[in-house]
Amino acid sequence: MSHLQALRLMPAQQLEVHGKRFRLFLPRHEIARCVRHLAERIQADYAGKELTCVVVLKGAFIFAADLLRELSLPCRVEMVRAQSYGMQMHSSGTIHLEPAQLDLRNRHVLVIEDIVDTGLTLQALVAQLHAQHPASLHIVALLAKPPAQTLSVPLTYVGKHIPPVFVIGYGMDYAEAGRTLPDIYAVDEHLS
Ligand code: 5GP
Repeated sequence: MSHLQALRLMPAQQLEVHGKRFRLFLPRHEIARCVRHLAERIQADYAGKELTCVVVLKGAFIFAADLLRELSLPCRVEMVRAQSYGMQMHSSGTIHLEPAQLDLRNRHVLVIEDIVDTGLTLQALVAQLHAQHPASLHIVALLAKPPAQTLSVPLTYVGKHIPPVFVIGYGMDYAEAGRTLPDIYAVDEHLS
């Protein structure tokens, strides 16, 4: 099945993706408000510093593009690839990082993540980045689910805390479908 066939628009702000029903969860204007608010906080906290942003692909690419354009700070941008969910809706707990090595020594690193669920991905990622001796390391996530609050790595900036629902859109996919939707949709378990 092609990715276009995988996604079907439906009435009443619903979508069907790979046979699962999704409902509108966060419209674009609310996402934009979250992003602006995060940018204001980051701008204030990093005033006078140069940032090195580490964007976690693929899911964070749209969030990062919007967030970074709201910041007027000197900023280097690195991209890393962490293992994705594939056809599953739960974290596998293992990540393979690419590239494994970045030039982070003495840099103020801000990891840009789309969504944190169990935090297993982020914990593994942060351990690998810490080993590269940054001057500081903080995390910004657009969305965080409840388990994220018990993480051993604190999320410095969270756009919105959400219930434990599976979401797509604004960079986030379900088996590569739905990533380019401008709004965020949540799976409707009752209808799927
Ligand atoms: P964690 O390791 O925190 O459980 O999961 C982190 C990664 O899993 C995120 O970077 C994201 O790629 C993916 N993920 C977690 N929750 C969701 C979700 O609700 N929707 C989508 N599309 N991906 C998710």
